[in-house]
This record gives sequence, C-alpha cells and structure tokens, in this order.
Amino acid sequence: MHYFQYHNNEMYCEDVPVQTIARQVGTPFYLYSHATLTRHFKAFNDAFEGLDRLVCFSAKANTSMAVLKLLAKLGSGLDIVSGGELFRGLKAGFSPDHIVYSGVGKRVDEIDFALEAGILMFNIESLEELELIQLRAAALHKKAFVSIRVNPDVDPKTHPYISTGLKKNKFGIDTESALSAYQRASRMSHISIVGIDCHIGSQITEIQPFEDALKSLKSLIQRLGTMGIPIRYLDMGGGLGITYREESPPQPFEYARAISNVLGDLKIQLILEPGRVIVGNAGILVTQVLYRKKGLVKEFVITDAGMNDLMRPILYNAYHEALPVVQSSGEPFTADIVGPICETGDFLAQDRQLTPVQSGDLLALMSAGAYGFVMSSNYCSRLRAAEVMVKGDQFAVIKNRETYADLIAGESVPAFI
Ligand SMILES: *Cc1c(COP(=O)(O)O)cnc(C)c1O
Repeated sequence: MHYFQYHNNEMYCEDVPVQTIARQVGTPFYLYSHATLTRHFKAFNDAFEGLDRLVCFSAKANTSMAVLKLLAKLGSGLDIVSGGELFRGLKAGFSPDHIVYSGVGKRVDEIDFALEAGILMFNIESLEELELIQLRAAALHKKAFVSIRVNPDVDPKTHPYISTGLKKNKFGIDTESALSAYQRASRMSHISIVGIDCHIGSQITEIQPFEDALKSLKSLIQRLGTMGIPIRYLDMGGGLGITYREESPPQPFEYARAISNVLGDLKIQLILEPGRVIVGNAGILVTQVLYRKKGLVKEFVITDAGMNDLMRPILYNAYHEALPVVQSSGEPFTADIVGPICETGDFLAQDRQLTPVQSGDLLALMSAGAYGFVMSSNYCSRLRAAEVMVKGDQFAVIKNRETYADLIAGESVPAFI
C-alpha cells in the first residue's frame, strides 16, 4: 500500500500531482511519500507489538537525510555498514545506542568512529575483525559491545547477488566457528558480548528461510548459555521482500508472528534491520521521454534517466513497473525503456506494454525508494538526480540535482601535466 495514485488519469503523490513537481524541479528525480514511509515504518514496528524489540532501519537502502530524520523521529534505530552511514545517522538524530554496525570490511577509522560514538553493537563478521576491535577498544579505553554475525547456511531463495546466508557467501561466521569465536571474545578485556546476529539476504518472499535461520540462532543461544555466555540481543537482520510485480511476500504481521512462534519463551531483545520493506514502495523515479525509436526487431523509448540513476535492472535483473504520469488512451505498444548511456545494459525496463507516449511525456519507475538513488553514479559525467519528498499537499527538494560544478569539485590537475 502506497500513496502514488491516479486521479483523473494523472498520477499524484499524496495530494500533489507528480507533473507539478516535474515542472518545478526538472527530470529525472526521485520522489518519496512521507505518508507511505510513515505507514510502512509503523506497520512493521507495530507488527512486533508485545515483543521487546528495536527496529533498526537499514540505512543502505536509502540514506537521504530527510528520510533518516523522519525514521529517527518515528522511533527507529539504524543499521549501518560504513563510517559514512554512521555520520549521516548521527547527523539525522539517531541515538548512538540505537545504532548497530554490520559489514565484512570495517576499517580502523570506522571502528574508532563507532567506538567514540558509543554505538549499541558491532555485528562482527570475522575473527580478524574481532581482534582488531579488541585492539582499538583497548587503545581508546572503551568497551566494545559485540554480537557475532552467524552464517546459518539457509537458502533465502532470492537473486544470487542478494543471498547472504549461504556457506559460499562472504558474510558472517559459520555456526561451529561462531561458538569458538564467542569463546575467544569472552576472554577479551575490552569486548563485551551482547548479541547474536544474522542477515540471510534481501527481497525474501517466503517465511521459511527466516524461520530456519532463527531456529539455528536460537539453538546457538542455548548452547552459548550452557557455556556461560548470556545473549541479550537477537538481531534477525532485514530481508523481507516487497511487491515489485506479482510477488506476494509475507506481510509484516505474518513475519512477526512467525518469529514470535519460533522464539517461544526465549527471553531476548529482538533487533530487526528492515530496509527495502520500509522505503521500497515509498519512492519512485520520475523521468522524461526524450525520443521514440524503432529498431528492426524492437522499439525503444529513450528517457533522460539511465542505469546510472537506477542500477537495479542491470545489476539484479530487477523489475520496476513503468507507468505514465499522465494516462493516455490509444493502442498500447511494446518497447524497451532505455537511458542515454553508451551501454547495452542501460535499460530501465524491457519488453513492456505501454500506452502511447511521446517526447516530453513523463514516466514513473515504481518501487524505486530502496537501492535506487543510493546506488546512482556519475557515469558518463551525468548529474545525479534530484530527490523530492511530498507530505500531504506540500513538497520539498531534499537533495538538489547536481550541477556541472559539483561534477569536478575536488578534482585537480597536477602541475606535472
Ligand atoms: C542490506 C542489509 C539489510 C537490509 O536488507 P533489506 O533487504 O533491505 O531489508 C539489513 N541488514 C544487513 C546487515 C544488510 O546488509
């Protein structure tokens, strides 16, 4: 459920016609709905009503300061994977003790930053990382709160590039090695074990993989208990899928009920790291048709947004619904929607039935709020798109479109040239 709807054949975001924004801001731009973000966060958080839990929005899905600030105000914590996300999170007003830090490649400066900030916990992904965090905590006279990210070897049945909990993936530590890592950690002077963690993948549309992972973590918690290592936080990671096309992922309440059933009477504080399910359907990418072109075997609609703006189609073979901002009548036709970039992989959608469009018309790529703008680049020296948020009948630019000056900011040509 989201607030991008047609009224009189025209797409609105909440109470604002998308066309009005396009006229003022230009294209392409990402557009987020305040009401949808709020609704999704509340639906997810409320699903766990009655359970001791902290929902930590996964920053990497969307790091716009306005989005982060809104979620912080709604009571969210934050799951980060870099020093940059920590910086943003603190600026957006997240309390450090509501921030968890995941990722296989934390650098010394990032570890120090997180120790100084006093985050809730590091989700540790290797023994070497554990050793380094112990060292840095000792050097800074801090205690590092840690959980170990366990790789439960569960198949999330999603795209291979977003499966993270299989034996062959780089993430986490396998169950048996995790036990010895916990023992090692328990003897470290500046490490305090507080949790256990997993994150098995993204865009997961079945409940079973979550249940399997949780069962695995639960039995590990019990084994740790017998070893005298108590666990306070159980971090289930993120990964709950959304509807891009015809998927029917579990609703948050079904997901919560399944988790609660597996947990049983285990006394634990639950941490959840949803990303996509909060922001995915709360954002769209609006682009303008530049040209139509008939090839010998295909027809193309060429737009002013390309793969540098929205990477997901080429990266994951992802599907985004493409809708006209103003609906027209007439014979539908089939075309690929492609960008201006010199790459055959530069497409936003392939083989789509579209109602007639012509140069100047606006198209909306739906469900682009997660892993959209954050993955955009300056490839081909293209200016990154603007970002806009709507609340009711108001809208605001939350990130300016880049300028040519932005493009070369920070560059210099050395004297030896
Ligand atoms: C990406 C990521 C998430 C969020 O995943 P979604 O599929 O967007 O919910 C959560 N936790 C970790 C560790 C991640 O890397």
